[in-house]
Amino acid sequence: MSAGKGGWRRPRSLRTQLLLWLITLHLAAAVLTAWFSFLAYGNLVHNALDDQMRLVAESYAGGDQSRTPRLVNSDAVLERGAFVVQIWSPDGSRLLSSSWPDLPMPLQPRPGFGDLRTGPQAWAHWRAFTAEPGAHADQRRVQVLQNEDYRRRRALRRALLEGLPITLLLPVALLALWLIVSAASRSLRAVARDVASQDERSPTDLPLARVPDEIAPLVASFNHLLGRVRSAFATQRRFVQDAAHELRTPMAAIGLQIENLRAHIPAGEATERFVQLEAGVTRAQHLIEQLLSLSRQDAPRRAMAREAVDIEVLLRESVSQLMVLADARQVDVGFEGSIAPVVFAPAAELRSVFDNLIDNALRYAPEGGVVDVKLHAVDGHGVVDVLDNGPGIPADAMARVFDRFFRVPGAAAGGSGLGLAIARTAAERNGLRIELSNREHGRGLRARVHLPAEPEAAAKA
Ligand code: ADP
Repeated sequence: MSAGKGGWRRPRSLRTQLLLWLITLHLAAAVLTAWFSFLAYGNLVHNALDDQMRLVAESYAGGDQSRTPRLVNSDAVLERGAFVVQIWSPDGSRLLSSSWPDLPMPLQPRPGFGDLRTGPQAWAHWRAFTAEPGAHADQRRVQVLQNEDYRRRRALRRALLEGLPITLLLPVALLALWLIVSAASRSLRAVARDVASQDERSPTDLPLARVPDEIAPLVASFNHLLGRVRSAFATQRRFVQDAAHELRTPMAAIGLQIENLRAHIPAGEATERFVQLEAGVTRAQHLIEQLLSLSRQDAPRRAMAREAVDIEVLLRESVSQLMVLADARQVDVGFEGSIAPVVFAPAAELRSVFDNLIDNALRYAPEGGVVDVKLHAVDGHGVVDVLDNGPGIPADAMARVFDRFFRVPGAAAGGSGLGLAIARTAAERNGLRIELSNREHGRGLRARVHLPAEPEAAAKA
């Protein structure tokens, strides 16, 4: 709720709106009830008390002429509304006796009801009833008075009592509303959380079971939309997968043919062309493999089995498998492990992270270069560093190298632009984090993988 330039703005929260309206309506109802009952009960009290006054006055006027009123004190008159009975001489000139002589009130000139004042104060306002003069000339006159302030207080008390239940109900109603609205916004937040956790790879729809009726259509529409997005992605993914798959076999055949052809190539320019052709085929095969693993990564997440993976063993395997590439490029690869952490994740996903990083290091290191893979602890956390002495990555391209198909302009031929994208997706899924930086001393890139802080890892370290 705030008063902006355009005046009062409606609060955005439904809860605040409901509470504001409810408080206002309850207060208005309480005030109106009190006001109406003040009027109604005022009248009722007034008439009832008037009747009593008349009865008292008439009983004194008509009955035993020697009867005198019993004295009362100011407390009874002003606080408890006791009647003041005055007995006057038959001609009305002399006050013969009064139940409260302190009240200097004259006899009304005319019989009947009247309102009299002795001063400006609230208590100085009196209701009076003067009895008709009797049939006999010697019959005394009687006047009965009652404090008007007492009468008003009595009516007001009655009216407030009437308004009390509704006022007492207010906090209860507010609490009930608060609880209902809180429950509703809790379920909205739960739905929002569910929605946020969905993407085109989520295998299941959002559950409708515990969703309030009012939100159910929204959730149903979201499920519908998600379904369409999922099927669009599936179509695209299937296309990439099918295409890559179809290309794989002919490409393998071409690879074999080239292999067989090698012995028949005469030395000279032909050999040079042949080597280029061979590199092109290798590149194409690499691209096909990367596309396949990308489309596999994009497939709906079926819970892949998480297992305890010994990172040291995994890295040694990865390095030895890439040794062929290292030998081809005469790159010296070293592995060094000072800790032996265990990570709970699907082994294939972890392999994908490290294979891609080591593969990059081997491909971008210069021929005859050096690549080091180091498993060690930094600030108490396990990390894997893959270091090469290649060109590194220009600062302005650093943010984009994880994008699919992005390649640094002028980078060595042979890449697909998919390796880092694949590595990062696999890493993030399993709580690993890849950090790239150019090495400070000398040239080259440092790709650092922060391992998740698994309690098992700490124990083994
Ligand atoms: P690619 O198949 O092209 O290597 P990646 O996604 O693995 O695709 O890498 C994206 C780009 O990042 C590469 O084209 C290259 O320019 C750069 N890059 C990746 N690793 C290295 C590295 N170790 N040294 C230098 N540049 C690298």
